[in-house]
Parts: sequence; C-alpha cells; structure tokens
Amino acid sequence: MISRRKLLKTLSSVPVMGGLVGTGLLTPQLMKAAVAQPAERNFFKELGLRTFINAAGTYTSMTGSLMSKEVTSAIAYGATEYVNLDQLHDKVGERIAELLECEYATVSSGAFGAMTIGLAGVICGMDEEKVAQLPDTNGLKNEVIVQEGHNIGYTHALTNTGAKLVKVKTAKELEKAINKKTAMLWFLNANTEEGEINREEFVALGKKHGIPTFIDCAADVPPVENLFKFTKMGFDLVAFSGGKGIRGPQSAGLLLGKRKYIEAARLHTPPRGTTIARGMKVNKEEVLGMLVALELYLAKDHKKEWELWENQIKLISDSALSVEGVQTEIHVPPHANHVPSLRIKWDAKKVKISPADARKKLMDGHPAIATVGNDEMIGMTTWMMEPGQERTVAKRIKEVLSST
Ligand SMILES: *Cc1c(COP(=O)(O)O)cnc(C)c1O
Repeated sequence: MISRRKLLKTLSSVPVMGGLVGTGLLTPQLMKAAVAQPAERNFFKELGLRTFINAAGTYTSMTGSLMSKEVTSAIAYGATEYVNLDQLHDKVGERIAELLECEYATVSSGAFGAMTIGLAGVICGMDEEKVAQLPDTNGLKNEVIVQEGHNIGYTHALTNTGAKLVKVKTAKELEKAINKKTAMLWFLNANTEEGEINREEFVALGKKHGIPTFIDCAADVPPVENLFKFTKMGFDLVAFSGGKGIRGPQSAGLLLGKRKYIEAARLHTPPRGTTIARGMKVNKEEVLGMLVALELYLAKDHKKEWELWENQIKLISDSALSVEGVQTEIHVPPHANHVPSLRIKWDAKKVKISPADARKKLMDGHPAIATVGNDEMIGMTTWMMEPGQERTVAKRIKEVLSST
C-alpha cells in the first residue's frame, strides 16, 4: 500500500492533480487512477468491456483496425504542441500528394467525410457564399449520378450536402440524365461488378460532358497500387478509409485528386465554422497519424504480408478441416477487402451446431474471437489480427466444431 504522504507527494508532482489535492475534488478513485501509470491501466477492463481477437475484418462496429507504435507515437507527439490547423493540412496535403503521385490531397474524417467534403467542394467551388448556403442547394448544381447497383447506404455522405441522387443503369441512361443541374458522377469501386458501366468508361463519360467523377475506394487497399491507380486513370476525386487496410486512425481518411476540388473541399472543414462539415474535424493528432500510417503502408513488404495472410488462413482452414463433416473455401474478394478469406461450412448431421451458435461460442470464449457469417457459414480473415493469434483461432474453431 502506498502511504498517504507518499501519494500526496506523487500527486503534487502532477500539475493538474496536484492542484486538486485538498480541494475535495480528488476522490479516492480518482487518486488511484491518477497514480497508476498509463501503461498499467487496462482502460477497457476498467469500463467493463471485453476486447477480442478480430477474425472478422475492418468493421466500424469493431473499431476498425489496430495502429502500429509509430502511428500512435505520431498521435501522442501531435498532442503535445500547438500548430496552425490550416497550415498543417496544407503541408500534409502536399506531402501525401507527393507520396501518392497525384495533384493534391487532404486528410478527411474517414472515406465518408471525404465524400461529403469532396462533393461540397465540387458544388460550391471557392465561392464562400455558396459554402455557407449548404445544405440548401437552391440555385446550385445539386444532382449526382450513380449507377443503381452502386447505390448503397454510404451514398448518404453525398446527400448530406443537400444534393440528390439520380440513378441510372446504362451509359446511354447516364448521358440522358446529364443536365445543367448535374454536379458529379459517383462510382463505388466495391460494386464494380454490380454496374454496367466500368471505371474507364465512367471516367470517359465525365470528361466528354465536362463533369467531375468521384470514386469511393474506402476498402480498396490492398493492393497498394490502388492508391495511385484511380487518380492516374482520370477520376477527379478518390476516397480511401484511413483506418482500414492502411491502419491509420479509424476516424481519418484520404481525399485525393484535383487540386481545385480539394482546395474547395477544404473550405467546408474546420477551422471554418459556418459550414456543413464543421463536425467532420480532423485535428493534428489524426493528421499526423494518417500521414505516418500511409508512409509505413507504402514502405511495407506487401508480398511478404500476403504470404503471411495465406499461411494464416491455411492454418485455420486445416484445423477446421480436421473435424469430420467440415468443408472450407479459401477465396479473395476481387474488389474491396481484397485479402485471403475463409468460409467454413459443415454437414449439419455430423456437426450439430448452427453457424450462429458457433460464432457466439467463439465470441463468448476465452479469448473472445469475432467472426462474420450467415445461416450457412462462418467467415474469417486474418489481416486484422496480431501475428500469432491465428494459432488461437485455429485451436478454438476446432474445439467449437468438435465439441457438439
Ligand atoms: C468503410 C466504407 C466507407 C466509410 O468509410 P469510413 O472511412 O469509415 O468513413 C465508405 N464506403 C465504403 C465502400 C466502405 O467500405
């Protein structure tokens, strides 16, 4: 037990806490928390929360991805000094554009935030009166054309600006839909196969009619080449999530592309206040975290990482297959979350547990393991795990499926 005298001495060396001593504001709980070194505190446990092995993938509900020491150090560094926010965004925008060989860039609040500010920039340009007018788009170009198969929930990022969606199926319909109200054409890379118009044709249609094109690539690294490919292909704006494959801050993202649109997009962001994106603030900690995560991602040995994922998936697959009646399928989604992935299915007569119950058992076990799935199978990836956790997952899946 730490003596009261010693405790007071320790506390008075911490300026804020020291100031609270003797004021009655310092409760015993607060004192105990203040004395423990940050590294010793298990915050999630203190809050009564369970942590888990992520065998599912990059899900917002599961807090996305884990950041490396270099990234968290950059974030911690950012928290220790003041800097001019606009100047920081200017410099980091230039640096990212150089790294990714595109005209300009900015760190956004996720891919979703990138879509909102990108479209807002396209609609308003550098006109500050228009910036202040949104989300009222009266008198402004306010239509965004999307392919029907690309119209998923995330298009809310676009309608946030006050714009509305015009849905089309074919290139012919798209051309017919273009009018003087058309602001932008928006493409969802993840749903490339769900649309009739491919990326190159989409870009060409935009150029033919002088309308900017935007591609949502939120979950499209790996492969690393995608960070370069779509700006070079001719899309005016490209969005990536910061906290998926790049493993930067989960609430950060990247908006890449034409300088004139990105400079216009920035007019909607803090420190400016009378704008639709005032709540999409990206402060210095996340800006630095995003930059460092990107630098590390570009410098990574991607081939080696891919081999690691393949080996991990095979280990888990083999372990599941050792249970009689189990079948597995290793696959790689062609667009978005393009990583080795596993589906585990079984003969219900031989393995008497439903996929939902098996997933619950994995999540309720020690350690907890999060997976995805449906009525027919359990789905897994290993790219969001810490190396070594695949062995725990392999052991647990076998235990759960063989104990029925
Ligand atoms: C994840 C995702 C988003 C949202 O990205 P955030 O970085 O979480 O804002 C948008 N579009 C697609 C296709 C996504 O997968």
